[in-house]
Amino acid sequence: MTQEAADTETVKTTNFIRNIIDADLAQGKHQRVVTRFPPEPNGYLHIGHAKSICLNFGLAEDYQGDCHLRFDDTNPIKEEAHYIDAIKADVEWLGFEWAGAPRFSSDYFQKFYDSACELIDKGLAYVCFLDAEQTRAYRGTLTEAGQDSPYRDTSPEENRALFERMRKGEFAEGECVLRAKIDMASSFICLRDPALYRVRFAHHHQTGDEWCIYPMYDFAHCISDAIEGVTHSLCTLEFQDNRRLYDWVLEHLDAFNRPDRPHQYEFSRLNLAYTMMSKRRLQQLVNEEIVSGWDDPRMPTLSGLRRRGVTPAAIRDFAERIGISKVDSLTEMAILEAAIRDDLNVVAPRTMGVLDPIKLVIENYPEAQTETLEAPIHPQNDAMGTRRIQFGREVYIDRADFIEQAPNKKWKRLALGKEVRLRNAYVVKAERMDTDADGRVTTVYASYDPETLGQNPADGRKVKGVIHFVEASSAVAAEFREYDRLFQVPEPAREDDFKTVLNPDSLTIRRGFVEPDMASAKPEQAYQFEREGYFCRDNHNGEALVFNKTVGLRDTWSQKA
Ligand code: ATP
Ligand code: MG
Repeated sequence: MTQEAADTETVKTTNFIRNIIDADLAQGKHQRVVTRFPPEPNGYLHIGHAKSICLNFGLAEDYQGDCHLRFDDTNPIKEEAHYIDAIKADVEWLGFEWAGAPRFSSDYFQKFYDSACELIDKGLAYVCFLDAEQTRAYRGTLTEAGQDSPYRDTSPEENRALFERMRKGEFAEGECVLRAKIDMASSFICLRDPALYRVRFAHHHQTGDEWCIYPMYDFAHCISDAIEGVTHSLCTLEFQDNRRLYDWVLEHLDAFNRPDRPHQYEFSRLNLAYTMMSKRRLQQLVNEEIVSGWDDPRMPTLSGLRRRGVTPAAIRDFAERIGISKVDSLTEMAILEAAIRDDLNVVAPRTMGVLDPIKLVIENYPEAQTETLEAPIHPQNDAMGTRRIQFGREVYIDRADFIEQAPNKKWKRLALGKEVRLRNAYVVKAERMDTDADGRVTTVYASYDPETLGQNPADGRKVKGVIHFVEASSAVAAEFREYDRLFQVPEPAREDDFKTVLNPDSLTIRRGFVEPDMASAKPEQAYQFEREGYFCRDNHNGEALVFNKTVGLRDTWSQKA
């Protein structure tokens, strides 16, 4: 990192995981930090995953260690190969680099199998033929101990033979499972002889039809970590109890029962208000066409946020702002938006767009004349240079910026008989107007003062308001899509049916005009349409000029809530 980058870098706040790592390094338990991000390829990544990505890759960066990208692909039924590419693209887009090639849990299928055999041979695993209902009954409850399965005392030799037959496909799905032999009376339900392997005659996107038995997550995950030399395996709080099983498995396998074996630590997941973080539920929004796809700009997915103009820097900053703790909470959308706004305020080029246009005709401006004016690309950053804007006799202004009669002295926009500055151009005064049959204003007629070009007119005349505009003859028509929260309640996932609390007005489409330069705007690159907010060109609509609103200029969430 250059000195300059180091100086401007956000100061990383410490957290309990950093404290653990510091202690482990100090005690010589590990010489190097290895973390991993282990998505299941069964959907697109969302902002909750981004929290985990920033944590895992961020720690590896800071401690000069490695972070592995590992696809946790042990359940062939729900997974699809195209999710793998999307996940890689999202992690790269966030600006992180995984160490080595992407890894797959399925790379270790043989090792899982061998580990299972080792447990069987040690009398620590058995093949159980109880059906699902019986298994549930035998398991007991939170207040009652479970009961031993009648298959629990089968000999290791017999279990080996049965397990080999499972592998050969001699048992039907659901007919039997391999279970760990731990403790049916444990206060941790996950230790009551959990399943390690089940039969699934499913085609796997990486291993094809090679396997018809698949390991359970709790068995595969800890072994994958150990194989890869992961030191700190970070997951969310709901896996707290499962940590006992994680430890049990590694402690009972000869190759992995070492002082430097991986340890699991849990942190609280991100819950974001007015949206949902579950891939299953997001999938449902997509499948039922409630949104246009995983990358619908209203989705909390990384692809949705990107399509909306959010930058990786804003997401990383957001992750830093929310921090890492062990307390579950609901994060306000305003915090995410503040991070986005703070980033875009600095980096987004300025331009003008009129979302709800009416015509302003400047009657004392020569007909058929236009002129090119210069305006800063960023008013606080001269280094970004200037842009050329057009001015002429007819311009578009926003309907909301004109009113027939100013309601009071504070009115800073245009009204009949009042003056206002057209941003980056001249002072105009509204004289009269045309309306349509419904009384809606269609055209405002005005005069302009040619002496007032620039921000500080020589005559020192005080003009209270500034409004934005686009010159009419060169204006380019565009569509603007403005998004609101997708749900009407802060925790839609808590509803019996989240579809009953959808916000019917989560998308508003307007048609207006932008500056001619914007015809070549790059998709996903956010601009500030002055006085309106941040927008980026949509990445789906080909030649058509569609702009998605990234975020407004001010916080509206806290006011609404
Ligand atoms: P979902 O509930 O969306 O299906 P998941 O946990 O099943 O999420 P995975 O693909 O297994 O999805 O997640 C990969 C990693 O991302 C895991 O380590 C998981 O803990 C982490 N993760 C998932 N959701 C969140 C979240 N909301 N906040 C923080 N980390 C998360
Ligand atoms: Mg998961």
